[in-house]
Amino acid sequence: MSDAPEDTAAHPPHAAPVTAGAAEQTAPATTGAAQQTTPGAAQRTPTLDDRARALDGADPLAAVRDRFALDDTVYLDGNSLGALPTAVADRLHRVVTEEWGALRIRSWTESGWWTAPERIGDRIAPLVGAAAGQIVVGDSTSVNVFKAVVGAVRLAGQDRDEILVDAATFPTDGYIAASAARLTGRTVRPVDAAAMAGEIGPRTAVALVNHVDYRTGRLHDLPGVTAAAHAAGALVVWDLCHSAGALPVGLDAHGVDLAIGCTYKYLNGGPGAPAYLYVRRDLQPRFDSPLPGWNSHADPFGMTPGYRPADGAARGRVGTPEILSLLALETALEAWDGVRIEQVRAKSLALTDFFLDCVAALVPAGRVEPVTPAAHAERGSQVSLRCAGAGEVMRELIARGVVGDFRRPDVLRFGFTPLYTRYADALRAARVLGEVLAGDAR
Ligand SMILES: *Cc1c(COP(=O)(O)O)cnc(C)c1O
Repeated sequence: MSDAPEDTAAHPPHAAPVTAGAAEQTAPATTGAAQQTTPGAAQRTPTLDDRARALDGADPLAAVRDRFALDDTVYLDGNSLGALPTAVADRLHRVVTEEWGALRIRSWTESGWWTAPERIGDRIAPLVGAAAGQIVVGDSTSVNVFKAVVGAVRLAGQDRDEILVDAATFPTDGYIAASAARLTGRTVRPVDAAAMAGEIGPRTAVALVNHVDYRTGRLHDLPGVTAAAHAAGALVVWDLCHSAGALPVGLDAHGVDLAIGCTYKYLNGGPGAPAYLYVRRDLQPRFDSPLPGWNSHADPFGMTPGYRPADGAARGRVGTPEILSLLALETALEAWDGVRIEQVRAKSLALTDFFLDCVAALVPAGRVEPVTPAAHAERGSQVSLRCAGAGEVMRELIARGVVGDFRRPDVLRFGFTPLYTRYADALRAARVLGEVLAGDAR
């Protein structure tokens, strides 16, 4: 990493330290020039390095980073695959050798395997503002989208014939909603998520909305859309893939009907970790899963030909739980011990604000354009930058130790996972991006 002009070398070591309080304020985007000091001035503008140091020094979550296996890489792709919590490897080793290896089938009861889907659901619950007993973990996000959308159509009743889908949705949600519509004789209508509240009407059975847009990082209005759906007699299914573990969701507080999400992004459950399904408690008795497997039977070991659904969250199960990845997730969730989601949100906003400041200061003018909203109320935990040649630019960033990702056609995506991302990482990412964009002829 080379030194940028605003680097600390230009400043006397006795310069006044930045107070954490001042550094935490959201400053407007600064220019490169504003970072330079006036020699001998009594008070100088803090450099970006000063600010990063002060912010990291005052970060109440700083020590949580030690719970993760990380290296020198600036890892800004935790919104796609969260980093490994170090405790997972030991747990998996024990599960494999002691529980599977030694106890074998006895582990379904003696090692608590059978109850893992609801037990781990209850561990996720506080992170998304849900009381216990409403979340079950298992199957992929895609499969849970199917359960939730068909389940919601059935709850909505026969006279509601349309399914509204966030027009910019992550593709799998859209594909599955379309199939759910064909199966249930409904039609799908794509709607801009920002306009969703006004589009829900008497024909709407369910609206399926991504809480945070995976491409732009825009945070949608969960309370408002949920209230609008209820006012129209419809249901809403929230996809929390890019919000759970990054910001408060408030499922219970806002009366959300159903929600689904993955666990390998901000929840760090590992590649292919099982997803979860939330069905609000008062809807559970009427929730009619389109995938009623033996695991969601009221008496699974009765092995009876007739299906009788279990009560509670277990009704969302299908078949045998993915024990190895479930238990890896259970240990991964220990990284949240003592962490409040409000702290995570505060750091997420401060990190993304700081990154945007660094980009404004360090990236040649006109080369990138933020597509993530500046308004905190509309921002998830990522910064997406539109950039010509974004695919090549991201390859070069990765080669230089800054890992984000590229979303076609022209978006550089940087995810900020507050449990382990430092302000210094945000600065280094912007600095390397500035170097890459200054050094090429694109
Ligand atoms: C990541 C993501 C998914 C992933 O679905 P899988 O079935 O887990 O592959 C689905 N929806 C959204 C909105 C996502 O961000």
